[in-house]
Amino acid sequence: MTAGDPGSAGSPEAPPDGALALLTIDLGAIAANYRLLCTRFTGDTVAAVVKADAYGLGAAEVAPALRKAGCRTFFVATATEALALREVLPDIETIYVLHGLAGETPELFAAANLRPVLNSIPEIELWRRSTAAAGIPAALHLDTGMSRLGITAEEFARLVEDPAPLRGLRIALVMSHLACPDTPDNPLNGLQRQRYAAMLDALQGAGITGFQRSLSASSGLFLGTGYHFEMARPGAALFGVAPLSEQANPMQQVVTLQAKILQVRRVDRDSTVGYGATHRFNASARLATVGVGYADGYFRSLGNRGSAYLGDWRIPLVGRVSMDLSTFDVTGLPDSAAAPGVWIELIGARHPVDALAAEAGTNGYEILTALGDRYARRYVGGPAA
Ligand SMILES: *Cc1c(COP(=O)(O)O)cnc(C)c1O
Repeated sequence: MTAGDPGSAGSPEAPPDGALALLTIDLGAIAANYRLLCTRFTGDTVAAVVKADAYGLGAAEVAPALRKAGCRTFFVATATEALALREVLPDIETIYVLHGLAGETPELFAAANLRPVLNSIPEIELWRRSTAAAGIPAALHLDTGMSRLGITAEEFARLVEDPAPLRGLRIALVMSHLACPDTPDNPLNGLQRQRYAAMLDALQGAGITGFQRSLSASSGLFLGTGYHFEMARPGAALFGVAPLSEQANPMQQVVTLQAKILQVRRVDRDSTVGYGATHRFNASARLATVGVGYADGYFRSLGNRGSAYLGDWRIPLVGRVSMDLSTFDVTGLPDSAAAPGVWIELIGARHPVDALAAEAGTNGYEILTALGDRYARRYVGGPAA
């Protein structure tokens, strides 16, 4: 196997003919990450959040792999995502929709056995008025400090004073969401946990019981068992993103992104590269250009900051990222190593999602969900493999 061979992604398969960039998604690593989170979690249920097409990795492939690994509870953002997920997981009992009804009818949810996460009193009342919804469990989302979605403190006070809107409903889950769980020292974590616990007590006092409790997504699961309750809702960690910033990443890398060198050129001292001539060479250099750019979700902010790997050589990105092209400095590498047709690694074991995110000034979530649809996609390590 030569340096930069796409086979180094963990499979002997060749990329599709003519592919200029290859995105390899390791379903085995996703399954291993799911199992690792299960061993860390002290509650009953580790759900999987597969919104945004499983963070850009393909819910149709990812969700069955998670199911095979033992996952039985799934979350998506929208009803549209839930209906698509229902097609690939026809026999899964529990699919929650985080945005709740959001303008869709209760009947649509009931027909596909989808559970809304109810985010306000009017939404609870809408759900309650529908006879179609009577048999379908729902979740309540309490806002404890994220100030985004969910029942506000003021609404909650009204609800426990007069729980009539909840009468007859099957509330299977009461959840909240942490704002800063990737930074364990942030005092908002403890404050949200206290508020959540107080709200749970108040629900109990109002006679509303028999639900699972969930506060933590990927990062919260690593904040300690005090944040666990009965259910965790990880997404990003399943896909290899580090749960805690500034700590070693316990998750396996899932994504490998490789691009084929289209052209190599030698440039003289004082030449520049790319739009805006933002990088000038103070000595002669050798450059390699690949067919990946910001239209592929390879962020323009990587200009003069990003890097990739050719085998074990780190190669810096020089100049701006174009729409369809990016150029790397391969000065000093043997001519035979950096040649047209050789594959370089933009994301992978040597350069994880979080490392690329740091260079781009964003987080791993945005890198994953931006991965473009021009890449040839290959799934390895799947349930059928
Ligand atoms: C996206 C989301 C999750 C999953 O978060 P990760 O950080 O990706 O694990 C869980 N709960 C809610 C409410 C979310 O919006």
